[in-house]
Amino acid sequence: MQGSMQDWDLRVTQLIDYAAREHGTREIVTRWADGSIERSNWAGVADEARKLSQAFNGFGLEKGDRIATFAMNHHRHLAAWYGAIGFGGVIHTVNIRLFDEDLIYIMNHAEDKVLMYDAAFQPVIERLKPHLKTVEHYIIFDDAESYGALIAAQDGHYEWATGDERDPCMLCYTSGTTGNPKGVLYQHRSTMLHAMAEIAPAIFDLSPQAALLPIVPMFHAASWGLPFAGAAAGVKFVFSATNEAPILHRLILDEGITHSAGVPTVWLSMFGHLDAESAAGRDASLGKLRLVTIGGSAAPRGMIERLMKSGVRVSHAWGMTETSPIGTMGAPTPNWDELTLDEQIDVVCKQGRVPFGVELRVIDKDGNVAPRDGVTSGALQIRGPWVIKRYFKADADTVDAEQWFDTGDVSVLHPDGTMQITDRVKDVIKSGGEWISSVELENIAVGCPGIAEAGAIGIPHPKWDERPVLIAVKKPGADIDEAAVKAYLAERIVKWWMPDRVLFVDELPHTGTGKIQKVALRQQFKDLVLEG
Ligand code: ADP
Repeated sequence: MQGSMQDWDLRVTQLIDYAAREHGTREIVTRWADGSIERSNWAGVADEARKLSQAFNGFGLEKGDRIATFAMNHHRHLAAWYGAIGFGGVIHTVNIRLFDEDLIYIMNHAEDKVLMYDAAFQPVIERLKPHLKTVEHYIIFDDAESYGALIAAQDGHYEWATGDERDPCMLCYTSGTTGNPKGVLYQHRSTMLHAMAEIAPAIFDLSPQAALLPIVPMFHAASWGLPFAGAAAGVKFVFSATNEAPILHRLILDEGITHSAGVPTVWLSMFGHLDAESAAGRDASLGKLRLVTIGGSAAPRGMIERLMKSGVRVSHAWGMTETSPIGTMGAPTPNWDELTLDEQIDVVCKQGRVPFGVELRVIDKDGNVAPRDGVTSGALQIRGPWVIKRYFKADADTVDAEQWFDTGDVSVLHPDGTMQITDRVKDVIKSGGEWISSVELENIAVGCPGIAEAGAIGIPHPKWDERPVLIAVKKPGADIDEAAVKAYLAERIVKWWMPDRVLFVDELPHTGTGKIQKVALRQQFKDLVLEG
């Protein structure tokens, strides 16, 4: 026997339909890089999305085809998400901060048919074009002859594609660990469940009263799902195509921003700006801002403290591209109101609890499920309907038989279920919310004449959360110094991968199988202090 309720597949197009129907006049604002402000609303974005779907359909694209975007945050980018999904396709948001090599790999691997980009990226796109094997259409968002003409040519009489809720709708690559970047292919169903969970008070606390400024880019982990959850809640969105603190601060004040979300780094520059504003006798307040969600890297205590002392609640989130990305969220505890501010800050410094929808466990060093005792640390695993099962085009699942996905993070679980990240086993460095592969850095560094072996580790940094430091062993008799190694690297890596320091040692610690023992190396250099 089956239940006798209506049988609706959960489809992402229901989100944009809902937002347009019930919150059609709620504003969607874009502050473009040239300083101009453009105002649309949910009805306008839905109309553009429908016309884009119609255009993609006219291109002869088929269900499941991938539409790539290479763009900053703005309302046309939002329309592109829904437009790509609306005809049955998959929106693939490409991280603009990757190297050419990775970008080419990713777009060919994804077999993107359309590439939509901001005019500012024209030089990059020109470089990539000869190598992109599957892209048939290039569309420039901020060009009246390109995106503008495409929209103008559609009459908007188009019905969204229907289908199964397990159809794919979005593709995000993660390039954290070694090897090629890996794609995570979200479903309509996983995205909808995640969006519905996200609006809850204990997660993003979204409602039609919220004015949300997502600082997290639309090309990072599905922008934490906010473009979907924002539609489900009917929020006012404010997008900024650039992320400088003075611009964001202006928007917070002028647009009545109540909610914001992003990696820690951005708040440090904001504090610097606020101090300067205050010294100059200008408005250094945060206006109506009441909830800031910080994630992607550990939020430093000082940052949480400063925001909370200015009356803004901070929610500390943990997640991964593989988890849609919400894994945990630091909502207030039941006894919140009885805690002192200092105790509340203690709570927020940890990574929070799982929402309904996902499960967590920690596996200790002997392979057993660790007790939730706040001390036993181990491998953090997660499972649930918005957690990855298998990477895009991989030939095997990336989870065990019980669907547990190993995150590569090390953590403890406290008795109340609060999760606290304590370390990372995956060999990567996260700087300003972006990954640096330590293995790749090491491989390049050992090509430097005079270097026998090198290990790259992440060292805490006041501005970037972590910065790479290279620990090297010289070849016998080699005459080489820090400056020479840096000069060698400068020609081979992008600027922001440059180790803050190159230090020399007589030998590196090794595991039994001859690999560099990163945990030991990190321990050895734990007192190293990097300047901001
Ligand atoms: P995102 O783009 O959301 O940062 P990634 O998949 O690139 O997602 O990175 C996920 C990884 O970032 C996690 O496995 C963890 O190592 C780190 N991370 C994310 N949030 C936090 C946090 N709040 N505290 C500490 N580390 C975090």
